[in-house]
Amino acid sequence: MTHNSQPKTPRLALIGFRSDENSSFRRGAADAPPLIRSALTIASSNAWSENGYEITPSRFFDAGDFGPQPGADLWERIESAVGALLARGLLPIVLGGDHAITHPVLRAFAHKYPRLSLLHFDAHPDLYDDFDGNPRSHASPFARILEEGLAARLVQVGIRTINAHCRAQAARFGVEVIAMREFDPRRVPDFEGPVYVSFDIDGLDPAHAPGVAHREPGGLTTRQAIEVIQRIRAPLVGADVVEFNPSMDSSGMTAMVCAKLVKELAGQMLQNAGEPAP
Ligand code: MN
Ligand code: MN
Repeated sequence: MTHNSQPKTPRLALIGFRSDENSSFRRGAADAPPLIRSALTIASSNAWSENGYEITPSRFFDAGDFGPQPGADLWERIESAVGALLARGLLPIVLGGDHAITHPVLRAFAHKYPRLSLLHFDAHPDLYDDFDGNPRSHASPFARILEEGLAARLVQVGIRTINAHCRAQAARFGVEVIAMREFDPRRVPDFEGPVYVSFDIDGLDPAHAPGVAHREPGGLTTRQAIEVIQRIRAPLVGADVVEFNPSMDSSGMTAMVCAKLVKELAGQMLQNAGEPAP
């Protein structure tokens, strides 16, 4: 059966950052992007998002994967690579890498979207002022993002590890924390302006997504996370899927979960941008 639903000019972009040097416990997330790409096209599934878009590779302008280079600041490379995609009018989906990369990604987004809202899935608030002396730690990106004024609003879901320091940071920055113990998809607010989704895979329960460095039981089901994504009505202008650690994914299940989330995020981006579904 043939389909004729692919646009000539892609609206979406895919870009990977193979960086895990800011991980505090166990490295390995740098190996994730190629595995998520393979899971996106594996023959065991099809390319359709649940809302009716076919998310094949031709949907994306694929900028490839970037890694650290000696003598170059990866933060600057990330910001300029993502900025180039935004300058072309694309809606980027970013594959990590550990969660530290979200900081330079959002530096690029803030140039184009000065009133951006963030919807952040995670077991952890990632608000440490620094972690083990590293201000670029994957435990700190949202502290940097809010200090620099890169987002107008931060809503966190899946949180189940908040400590006193991060609770104080959340109060200082006005973060809206929907803790796991009070989770209900209807508690996630409607956003007014453009939204960026940052999806740390450890926001899911490790029963659903074991391939992470920090397994934290008691998290979201894959279904609950998809429901939150599908309820977004505001323009969804970018997203990242980070912290998938293939060295912890002996079954290969987590790669499939990441690919599923990419398809659902892509489908919601297209729907909210008014792209006609076939
Ligand atoms: Mn996390
Ligand atoms: Mn995180």
